[in-house]
Amino acid sequence: MANFDKPNAAIKLVFRGTFIHSTQKSALDILEDALLGVDTAGKIAFIGNSQELEKLSQTFGFSPSDVTQLTQHEFFMPGLVDTHIHASQYSYAGTALDMPLLQWLTTYTFPVESHFKDLEFAHRVYAQVVKRTLRNGTTTACYFATIHTDASLLLGQIANDFGQRALVGKVCMDSKNSLNYCETTPESQNETRRFIKELLDRKYPLVKPVVTPRFVLSCTKDLLGELGTIAKKTNLHIQSHISENVEEVKLVKQHFPDCKNYADIYHKYNLLTDKTVMAHGCYLSDEELSLFRETGASLSHCPNSNISLCSGVLNVRNVLKHKVKLGLGTDVAGGYSASMLDAMRRALDVSKFLTIQNPEHSTLTFEEVFRLATLGGSEALSLDDQTGNFEVGKDFDALRVNLTVPGGPIDLIQKSEPKIQLEKFMNLGDDRNIVEVFVAGRKVVPFTEPTAYNCTE
Ligand SMILES: [Zn+2]
Repeated sequence: MANFDKPNAAIKLVFRGTFIHSTQKSALDILEDALLGVDTAGKIAFIGNSQELEKLSQTFGFSPSDVTQLTQHEFFMPGLVDTHIHASQYSYAGTALDMPLLQWLTTYTFPVESHFKDLEFAHRVYAQVVKRTLRNGTTTACYFATIHTDASLLLGQIANDFGQRALVGKVCMDSKNSLNYCETTPESQNETRRFIKELLDRKYPLVKPVVTPRFVLSCTKDLLGELGTIAKKTNLHIQSHISENVEEVKLVKQHFPDCKNYADIYHKYNLLTDKTVMAHGCYLSDEELSLFRETGASLSHCPNSNISLCSGVLNVRNVLKHKVKLGLGTDVAGGYSASMLDAMRRALDVSKFLTIQNPEHSTLTFEEVFRLATLGGSEALSLDDQTGNFEVGKDFDALRVNLTVPGGPIDLIQKSEPKIQLEKFMNLGDDRNIVEVFVAGRKVVPFTEPTAYNCTE
């Protein structure tokens, strides 16, 4: 039902049609023939039944003739939240999937990431990944960049220019590797402080820095300690990787014999907070999951990457049972697709695979996976006060989905109810079906792109 409180700002957009989202109570809440109003601050001012049109138009001061009507094959859903993506690895996405994590890092990843000291190269890759993800409905992305501060700032600028909500991390790593793609400890600390200050000074409304130790094997204890202190002082988000692959888990145990488990290492250095998101967690014990729950830290489930690098299989049901916040991530380029639709499909595949192995396993439903990709992701990034669903007061981050676009991937043979339309879109749809994308009330797709980016096509 609509909230008839006095509006804070004038209404700029009103839509009428089907809205599908998740709430605290329900993985799937479908509002048919509903009205949603967006104010000039980009926030959802009201959501109500279309029978309330006259009253709403009087209360909120808009003309019924300004209402945009969706067709019967269209619906709005919340923007997708990618809780883990390496923007810098986008250049080789779709290739280099033939070896396990640690060898993959030194063979493919570090050589490519080294190139990002070249700002022109960085500009090209970052503009492409921001555009590609937006086009595929990622309204919020939690990005890893590289160790290079200026290129990482550039990623923040590009996300801001295109209107994507983003957490951007300058990667920290001071452990030596054979390719010399690393920093000294003081360099990593000082550059992290510079990155945070310069990005915050730019006052981008939707782009914030995130403290980003690559993972414990890439960082010395001194650096981990200092990054924990920086995150605490600045009250910023933290992102890293945990328990992704068997060989990695074994090495971590050897390097940190005084810590009782992998999660305890991050905890010891103040890196597990209610603003922490850790990718993977395939091999976390129940004790470690309880620590996540206690600290409020979250997990990013990246099924494409876990399968592509033969890393492991996360039992999402067990994570949810422990009441750990969980979102989905593409983990480009360990995951080969930058589309969150792919992440949703792979999450379902992995869950079904677990059921094949153990018929007692309770398979995730498509409704639950829809929730993980939207509201769940916003919770995992502690941004659920701003985005994730269509609650009044949140920013309007939304996808306008049309199942019957000309030349599109979906054939609608018969009239379908909204739930069926959503399921078809999740399993068969692609960016052609995402006809408009809004972030904080601003239409960001189709692009009205700044001329500086035209050369990147
Ligand atoms: Zn990753």
